[in-house]
Amino acid sequence: MSMDPGAARAAEIGGAGFAVWECRACGHRVYPRRLWCPACGGRQARPASVDEAEVLACTRVPGPEGDTVLATLRALPRGPQLVARVAGPPVRAGQRVRLRGAADAQGRVLPWTGPPPAA
Ligand SMILES: [Zn+2]
Repeated sequence: MSMDPGAARAAEIGGAGFAVWECRACGHRVYPRRLWCPACGGRQARPASVDEAEVLACTRVPGPEGDTVLATLRALPRGPQLVARVAGPPVRAGQRVRLRGAADAQGRVLPWTGPPPAA
């Protein structure tokens, strides 16, 4: 019996949250990084860790090596909105999920959601 790949992925996701970019001038948050702030035009941003997000939508994308589940999320409490891969079963709109970074095969750290935190 093989382990569900989504569950294996979820087991890898731990530690601190996921780094987004926060404008030093106005605090507006974006991901991925922009050349300038879309809110104020500021050109300096710092990383900010976000740990939790609200699900806005969830989509299953069929592929040759299995389905990929993607969620559009709004990081809490101040954004940004971003798309993350879902480790495990699809999530529902309105659900709160953890947000984590996990490196892909090329070493790029991408956003993932794991299971929601235990109540
Ligand atoms: Zn700004």
